[in-house]
Amino acid sequence: MSIIGDKIASIKGQLPEQVRLVAVSKTKPIEDIQQAYDDGQRIFGENKALEMRDKAAALPDNIHWHFIGHLQRNKVKYIAPFVKLIHGVDSLKLLKEINKEALKNDRIISCLLQFHIASEETKFGLSLDEAVEMLSSEDYKAMKNIKITGVMGMASNTFDTDLVRAEFKHLLNLFQSIRYKFFLDNIFYREISMGMSNDYQIAVQEGSTLVRIGSSIFGARNYSK
Ligand SMILES: *Cc1c(COP(=O)(O)O)cnc(C)c1O
Repeated sequence: MSIIGDKIASIKGQLPEQVRLVAVSKTKPIEDIQQAYDDGQRIFGENKALEMRDKAAALPDNIHWHFIGHLQRNKVKYIAPFVKLIHGVDSLKLLKEINKEALKNDRIISCLLQFHIASEETKFGLSLDEAVEMLSSEDYKAMKNIKITGVMGMASNTFDTDLVRAEFKHLLNLFQSIRYKFFLDNIFYREISMGMSNDYQIAVQEGSTLVRIGSSIFGARNYSK
């Protein structure tokens, strides 16, 4: 097994059975992803549409590609033919565009609603009121080619683990509120995407079903190259 495979195995060994690992491969070369794939990893996360499209074209077809970052509407078309799950839906306009491109590709694309849970200003995401307004709209009800399968959030980037835990608890509460209002009998609505390299243990304790881990698997990213 490769070094990357060892790291994945060690993380998976700590995850309960119901929690899936998204190996975040953004900025990393094809060879690293291929290595993880050869050692059995199937879910990969990317945050740039064109990078994800190019990697998907060069790698095996049975990889599950998850889009994890902020998705611009004019980039949806590049990933609509194959993306398995879009984690970061934070507006009705974006959802409409995903629905449109999914229809063109004769697909139903699964999406998570991204909530703003961090105390930092910079992170994207909806408030509960915004999500309720979106899911109550006629526009949303008319969409046939998207499926909301849960929620996603990013905690503050801090060593204050009490704060991080409180933010994850908040996301779990938002998940439940939305479930109660809109998805009570819906078996597809079940994902809580939370937890990264530095905080996934806390996220798992607080109910995460999808952890998104990059640097702990592939090493630190170098954005300057
Ligand atoms: C980069 C990224 C991750 C992975 O971060 P690491 O700290 O490298 O594990 C997870 N989620 C999102 C949305 C990201 O952009």
